[in-house]
Amino acid sequence: MEEKSNPITTSSSEVTAKAAGGVVCVGLAIAGFVTGYWGWGIVAIFGAIAFFGAAFGLSGRADCPACGRALSQLRVLGFLRCQGCQNYLEIKQQRLYVAGDQALADEPHFAVPLPWEDVATRTTFAPVMGLPTLNSESRTLPAAWPPGCCVCGQASTRKDSFQQSVIKTGGLLDKRISISVVEIPYCAAHKDGVRLGYDPDFPGDPAILLLFRSHAYYKAFRALNGWGAKPPAAPENKA
Ligand SMILES: [Zn+2]
Ligand SMILES: [Zn+2]
Repeated sequence: MEEKSNPITTSSSEVTAKAAGGVVCVGLAIAGFVTGYWGWGIVAIFGAIAFFGAAFGLSGRADCPACGRALSQLRVLGFLRCQGCQNYLEIKQQRLYVAGDQALADEPHFAVPLPWEDVATRTTFAPVMGLPTLNSESRTLPAAWPPGCCVCGQASTRKDSFQQSVIKTGGLLDKRISISVVEIPYCAAHKDGVRLGYDPDFPGDPAILLLFRSHAYYKAFRALNGWGAKPPAAPENKA
């Protein structure tokens, strides 16, 4: 199986320049403290933090292997969503891959928007001990679950459910919505493969989304649930 990937490069001259700025600030800070100019010493410390932070943030760049979009500030490991084609990409061994069927995040990560227009934007988690609100309701996620454990794909031996309350803000009154997610298939070895949460890379206003650990299961879920196919179905890689 050959996966499409691109190498991740770091612009070492930029990193060096920013790091050098940090070193200069450290020098100024020491000079400030030694000579009794404490105020300037503290300013220089903040400068050093800013420079070193910038040098660190410049870490990696690569083109998306699916759509060619230039991506920067890549981390060392893990998954991200391409802002161009909306494919999930995986960083491993200094290369950027289109996430394949084997891709398994440590925590639920691959995001599907919820099927209700009114919670598509501006939702946050409700505080556990929140005040009761007049404006509250319960909903069950109308999900069809692909067969097999949602983490590993092996035959499922049980179905799990969970419930979580979200707050829809921005209206005249905040609305509290208790969402039940039921009938999630698991094998004996796995749990917690699906949850509600955020994906900071997801397009649009921040909202609570349905997150999956398994990329293969995420793709199967989107294929099975029409509402899960939004945003536009991503081009398939050949992995
Ligand atoms: Zn892309
Ligand atoms: Zn499993």
